[in-house]
Amino acid sequence: MRHLSEGVDRFQREVFPAKAGLFAHLAATHQPGTLFIGCSDARVVPELITQTEPGELFVIRTAGNLVPAHSPGADAVAAGIEYAVAVLGVRDIVICGHSGCGAMTALAEGHDLTGTPAIADWLRHADASRARTTAPAAGEDPVAALVRQNVAAQLANLATHPSVARALAADDVRLHGWVFDISTGTVDELDTAARPVLAA
Ligand SMILES: [Zn+2]
Repeated sequence: MRHLSEGVDRFQREVFPAKAGLFAHLAATHQPGTLFIGCSDARVVPELITQTEPGELFVIRTAGNLVPAHSPGADAVAAGIEYAVAVLGVRDIVICGHSGCGAMTALAEGHDLTGTPAIADWLRHADASRARTTAPAAGEDPVAALVRQNVAAQLANLATHPSVARALAADDVRLHGWVFDISTGTVDELDTAARPVLAA
């Protein structure tokens, strides 16, 4: 914990003064251009990957970068999406999966999750991801295949949220699917044709 306190000290001493103008502006302004939905994984840091400044990304991080499809009832992810899209008016939404994802590994390898019922329940939001991951081709890593299909499936779930559906219909928002590779630092963008297309 001590290194966190030391980090705060260093932030206040060195980083904040260099960005004082930006923070003065941000103190009264919240206009992020992008909603970034990523995994909670400690190795996937949205602002680092995208080299963005405070104020640019509205971030939601969930285990497995899962986005539950719209349903009635209180839902922190749904509230965050609605706030970013309907209130803040973000123009782009990125769902970012990543290599070595613990959630996708558990599903792809069929880990026993009976001792972690909350995780097991949460990962049901990846049922469609598993369903659309056909048998990987020879040499293809089944976890990597599921990671990619999961991003596509979560983009489809995202589009079920009324605020997103409304913004898509008005052409006010664009959806993007990314996969970040931890070992190389590369980001693959899924074919935009893989994004959900609303029925005409
Ligand atoms: Zn992950």
